[in-house]
Amino acid sequence: MSIIHKELHVKYIQQLNTQPDHLEHWLTEHLRLNGIYWGITALTLLDRIDALPRDEIIKFVLSCFDENSGTFAPYPGHDGHMLATLSGVQILAIYDSIDSLTNEQIESIVKFVVTNQLEDGSFQGDQFGEVDTRFIYNGLATLKLLGRLTDNIVDSAVDYIKRCRNFDGGYGLCIGAESHSAQVFTCLGALALTGKLDTILTKDEQEQTAWWLCERQVNEGGFNGRPSKLPDACYSWWVGASLAILGKIDWINGDDLEKFLLKCQDEERGGFSDRPGNETDVFHTIFSLAGLSLVGKQDLMPIDPKYCLPPSVTCKL
Ligand SMILES: [Zn+2]
Repeated sequence: MSIIHKELHVKYIQQLNTQPDHLEHWLTEHLRLNGIYWGITALTLLDRIDALPRDEIIKFVLSCFDENSGTFAPYPGHDGHMLATLSGVQILAIYDSIDSLTNEQIESIVKFVVTNQLEDGSFQGDQFGEVDTRFIYNGLATLKLLGRLTDNIVDSAVDYIKRCRNFDGGYGLCIGAESHSAQVFTCLGALALTGKLDTILTKDEQEQTAWWLCERQVNEGGFNGRPSKLPDACYSWWVGASLAILGKIDWINGDDLEKFLLKCQDEERGGFSDRPGNETDVFHTIFSLAGLSLVGKQDLMPIDPKYCLPPSVTCKL
């Protein structure tokens, strides 16, 4: 039985921050803030948040604030976006430093998020109008972390999510779109963090969704995102967290998932890949570790399935 190489994974994340010219450096600029959030959250699971320089990272996050759009961009000089907004706020929340934002910046972030909610309750990623249930989650989680979630925003958002539910119990990226486990997570996560899960979904409906999620576990032990697709380590989170939100994480085989994920780790350089033998990246590293934590394997620190943040952060919400 192989084990997880914790110290190697810590080193893998550290080197993302110290080798700016390295190919794997935190992923590309347009995902930089997301990449840092994934890396730091992975460190919390390994109980090594001290392994990256806190003050330097907070400074970088603040330097990503784009005055024109009034919110976080993924990298200094880029445009603000909902994805970067949530990552920026999440990083500050992990470091208990939301108060490093000025009141004007907080007001401006809230305005950015609220302005991106459309009439039907859905959210767009930015002014260019891409609509996806991911952005509903981004918007609601950002406002929740800032203590600024209001009933009128929640009510129309959950109404939209209700209309995204498919006959198979899954959810897609908009009304009528094919069920996909990443979108199931964003929809269930949004319902859970607003306290609306049991209002919007009956127990039978929750069970139907849980069955659809369980069927994502394939022979190799990992999960796929949709029927007939290959398993991928990141779905350990999208499927696992969704089941944990529904209180059904024990419906899947944790031992098989653990075996699959341990095969996805690079035993020489650290980090996890999407499937055994592939190149590692920080995205699959966080979601593999988070998946292992959800099923109680390898003695990792806990994670809140609604937020993908440590419970020590979310208990204050
Ligand atoms: Zn993946």
